[in-house]
Amino acid sequence: MSFVALTWMNCIRRHLLPKARFLHTLQVLQSEQILMSPSLASLDLPDIWTPNYSCQSSPAILKSGNEQTAMVLDGKLMSTEIRSKIADQVRQMKKCLGKVPGLAVILVGQRKDSLTYVRNKIIACEEVGIKSLVTELPTDCADADVQNAVMRFNKDPSVHGILVQLPLPQHLDEEKILDALCLEKDVDGFHPLNMGNLALRGREPLFTPCTPKACIELLIRSGVKIMGKKAVVIGRSNIVGLPTSLLLQRHHATVTIIHAFTENPEQITSKADIVVSAAGVPNLVRGNWIKSGATVIDVGTSPVEDLSCEEGYRLVGDVCYEEVVKVASVITPVPGGVGPMTVTMLLVNTLDSAKRMLNFT
Ligand code: NAD
Repeated sequence: MSFVALTWMNCIRRHLLPKARFLHTLQVLQSEQILMSPSLASLDLPDIWTPNYSCQSSPAILKSGNEQTAMVLDGKLMSTEIRSKIADQVRQMKKCLGKVPGLAVILVGQRKDSLTYVRNKIIACEEVGIKSLVTELPTDCADADVQNAVMRFNKDPSVHGILVQLPLPQHLDEEKILDALCLEKDVDGFHPLNMGNLALRGREPLFTPCTPKACIELLIRSGVKIMGKKAVVIGRSNIVGLPTSLLLQRHHATVTIIHAFTENPEQITSKADIVVSAAGVPNLVRGNWIKSGATVIDVGTSPVEDLSCEEGYRLVGDVCYEEVVKVASVITPVPGGVGPMTVTMLLVNTLDSAKRMLNFT
């Protein structure tokens, strides 16, 4: 990082932003690739800011006497239905070919959230009869170690889907590692060719990224019309925001993207029929950001300390649920909305991949 950037960051750190906000700003700058590889550990931050994850602080937004309550989309229930159909097809495949789909997961390091996500994916595979394999690598492993694991699974004919659990530790070259993935097994849909084909008219990606696909599936299954509607996506990451906006366009929505540098985001969201929020900022989307009767899909999942929970934390979304549920007509909860559907879309992609490779219809 340049001297100017460092000085500027130190200025922000000392004088302008308390710790949590500073960390968030840093993450945003990193995710927008404005700062390259700063070491958070070396910054020695003072612990002077306690986040308030409640959105009760703005009661004026709640209109008294407003009884409207949105339909809450149950991602778990929808997942159960889809997973039971996947299990049927896996049984059929086993009966006809003596083979089942296989998913390989590469996990680097011991991040708590990544461990939880991988565990959930493995359990989901087991439930539907998909074979799963996990390679765990230490945090300090080299690019070559991850690439070797990818290449081993590329060659394994019992593996039809490979996913590298993201984010990877900072020293690893994510781009190089994802490039090494065999396109036909890229069930996360993050290979540049899959992403490129998603963006191009007239082309079809082999796989669509799971979380964006989950958002669209939730909309379609709940009867929300997408064609011709104004949609706003908050966030423009390669994993969620960008592919979600591309998918919504494929479904003929008129899409606007909001990101960390967008001015007056609430003016833009308040005109939208569909809002998909994937910023990772608790309670970013308030009741007065949303048009009456709009549909709100909350992708955000941020862990916040909660000692009453077994793990010591709970997950919260980007949306101030208590406010927005009174304004929107459809809303997804966190947890229990997009999360379970994302895992289900991974199962769908793995089954599709196995069917394509084994020529099974
Ligand atoms: P990211 O950090 O890579 O991207 C965040 C995006 O949000 C960036 O484009 C940034 O510009 C934008 N942003 C940040 N702060 C903003 C603000 N104040 N206003 C407007 N835009 C802002 O994150 P990601 O990987 O895209 O994930 C986003 C969230 O979705 C996270 O909470 C993550 O945990 C969650 N997620 C959930 C699932 C799921 O299955 N439910 C899957 C993937 C990610």
